[in-house]
Amino acid sequence: MKTWFAIPLWQRVIGALILGIIVGRFWGPEAASIKIIGDVFIGFIKMLVVPLIFFSLVAGVAAIGDLRKLGSVGWRALLLFVVSGQIAVWLGLGLGTLIQPGAGVDTSSLQKGPTPPPNDTTWQDMIMGMIPESPVQVMADVNVLPLIVFALLIGIGILMAKEEGEPVLKIFESGSVVMQKVTMIVMELTPFGVFALMAWVAGTLGLDALAALGKLVALNYIGCLLIILVMYSSMIKFIAKLPVIDFFRGIIDAIAVSYSTASSNATLPVTLRCVRRNLGVSNSVASFVVSLGATINMNGTAMYLGLATLFGAQIFGVDLSWGDYLLISVLGTLGAVGAAGIPGAGLIMMALVFGAVGVPLETIAFVAGVDRIMDMMRTTTNVSGDAAVATTVAALTGEIDAAEMISADDV
Ligand code: ASP
Repeated sequence: MKTWFAIPLWQRVIGALILGIIVGRFWGPEAASIKIIGDVFIGFIKMLVVPLIFFSLVAGVAAIGDLRKLGSVGWRALLLFVVSGQIAVWLGLGLGTLIQPGAGVDTSSLQKGPTPPPNDTTWQDMIMGMIPESPVQVMADVNVLPLIVFALLIGIGILMAKEEGEPVLKIFESGSVVMQKVTMIVMELTPFGVFALMAWVAGTLGLDALAALGKLVALNYIGCLLIILVMYSSMIKFIAKLPVIDFFRGIIDAIAVSYSTASSNATLPVTLRCVRRNLGVSNSVASFVVSLGATINMNGTAMYLGLATLFGAQIFGVDLSWGDYLLISVLGTLGAVGAAGIPGAGLIMMALVFGAVGVPLETIAFVAGVDRIMDMMRTTTNVSGDAAVATTVAALTGEIDAAEMISADDV
């Protein structure tokens, strides 16, 4: 028992992944008999969707309110968060459309859950579908669009209520922390879920399915690397006008910790130290932008949500219209805002986007086995993004000591 927990979770998950594939390949279709273990894991993940979105979105919106206090720094950071998040989702959508990682997988043996087909609904229905007429009903039905609207409104209400809204805000902030802890507990089930799900995929769906998952993982890495190497480098070089190499050298510790923990939150102290000490960003800008970024700025997650939705649509043969693409781009960014900076948050947020465009939730079970390896890269992208935005905003507002950044040589 002790030795089990002594092994880092990610190593247990990778071990389970490999073992699952081997067992599934030898066992064949019979491996479906242990899928129940994976279903239990997915069931707990689904349990988290409503409370996690609700608490963290409300807390996230309320946190954005502080931006006003910081004036020029806050608005610049928010603008960079939004623009980079949009570029990231569209990158995921572009990669998914171009490479089609899910094409050619025979999923006829998977039973599809009841997903509402949104394509034949009128625009009037769609608008009405976003109104949280009965918030409790919306939560009971796990109806994410109206849930998001409701959460945004509560967040705005809290901001408008100022001091009087503070007790309610505290409830949401503390609720969001509690939900993150609950997620951590659920994540301890990951090795077992991953083992069962990979055995099931490898045994019943065969090599095509494994190849498709391989492509998804590769695209996730390519997308994340493009964001880091092209988008963040350009931000540092052209907007902040600082040396790119020194920037990356300065955040190397944060990159290492984020990759191994798959948690922006757990990396936060390291990111803060890198940004302040190695890059010379002022204390106030660093703590404000980096901690806000760890909660709401998740470009790796946004990119992945776009990519994964197309993957699900491809394996289940769901046709997506341009309207759906637009919806995915908005929900992908919101999902990234709503995703907590903890391992597996992106996996939970997939339910948010899938439900809205009619992609079966079974996709989650299908990709959950390889999620951890992708999560590690997403998190590194998220954390590097927080550092890039903090550095850029600091450079634009004169809150950086460039001499200290150059001394990144001796980090
Ligand atoms: N694990 C990621 C993070 O902490 C979120 C995700 O799952 O995409 O940044």
